[in-house]
Amino acid sequence: MRIFNFKSSEPKLIKLSKSVLSREEKRAVIKVLKEGYLGMGKYVQKFENDLNSIFNRPVSCVVNGTAALHLALQACGIGEGDEVLVQSITYLASFQAITATGATPIPCDIDLSTLTIDLEDAKSKITDKTKAIMPVHYAGDLGDYEGIYDLASIHKLRVVEDAAHSFGGKKNGEYIGSFGDIVCFSFDGIKNITSGEGGCVTTNDLKVINKINDARLLGVHKDTEKRFSGQRSWEFDVLEKGWRYHMSDIMASIGSCQLKKLEEFSKARQKLATYYDNKLRKFDELSIFERDYKSVVPHIYPIKLCNKINREELKLFLEKRGVQTGIHYKPNHQLTIYNEILKSPLNKTDSIFDKIISLPLHPELNENTLDYIINCIKEFLNK
Ligand SMILES: *Cc1c(COP(=O)(O)O)cnc(C)c1O
Repeated sequence: MRIFNFKSSEPKLIKLSKSVLSREEKRAVIKVLKEGYLGMGKYVQKFENDLNSIFNRPVSCVVNGTAALHLALQACGIGEGDEVLVQSITYLASFQAITATGATPIPCDIDLSTLTIDLEDAKSKITDKTKAIMPVHYAGDLGDYEGIYDLASIHKLRVVEDAAHSFGGKKNGEYIGSFGDIVCFSFDGIKNITSGEGGCVTTNDLKVINKINDARLLGVHKDTEKRFSGQRSWEFDVLEKGWRYHMSDIMASIGSCQLKKLEEFSKARQKLATYYDNKLRKFDELSIFERDYKSVVPHIYPIKLCNKINREELKLFLEKRGVQTGIHYKPNHQLTIYNEILKSPLNKTDSIFDKIISLPLHPELNENTLDYIINCIKEFLNK
């Protein structure tokens, strides 16, 4: 019996992003279904071991990237009354994860060349309540990574990296996640690899990992070890607040398959982004973000439009020609919930946010499709 038909779901639309799945994932999920245990068990343990072979340090898998960030902050003792520095242009998840702990996300400006956190602005917003900085590796870019850690060390801040965009990327030949204080990834459907939904935290701080391992299972002390050996804790203790944030075996089985394709996926993304760069660099009406695609694995491909181009018009024009685009992101400080905590205007964020638009990027695109997209843009500009 055929359960899935991936072919028939192939869209005519050129999607902004998508999951890239094949037979292996299907087989892996069916295997878990046949075995009949769907919760957190040996497949989560295996996925953690697989990830450990990339990071060379402890990993805890959770239900999504937002939970990864939330648990990482909680495990650092961050909560009510504390402040966390984060760039305003990021996925809402970064902000809501901070808010979930009871702490306040402090919206920071961005560096216009990388769209990563502006450290001068971040520095100016440090108070005695500031406990952490959450750098977002926007589009896979680490930004001023050394600068972030210097600032953190001077002001004794924890660094919780929102690395949701950068899985598979490297720095000096080492995988992102294999270094840095606490690094959080997302494996949601459209990220560099997926486990359906999912995420993980990796760090050398064993105290943090142990706290996360408990907190993902409602705080049940050492329940992780029990689950990995196919048992449950009937008699247990709880030391701290916890959540139902663990990964399931179904998700982990998909994640392990995807991890094997990491190099293939990464190369495809890097090649496509480089292709876009080379073609789009020649356009006067827009600019590209220069990134080193030997080490950056781009999750998204944003470009910046010059002032005279109306983004909404371009977006609509492309949509009519079957090209989906995205906006990464509406600045969080413009949302009602976060508007009041703004400490000072974010001039650079405000100047750029309605000028950025993301073009389709996922491993199933090819150069012909990109040529089509680029020609559509050309057509719009020559109107
Ligand atoms: C995807 C994403 C997250 C959250 O991950 P989920 O798995 O969707 O919860 C956090 N931050 C950024 C920048 C993201 O893109």
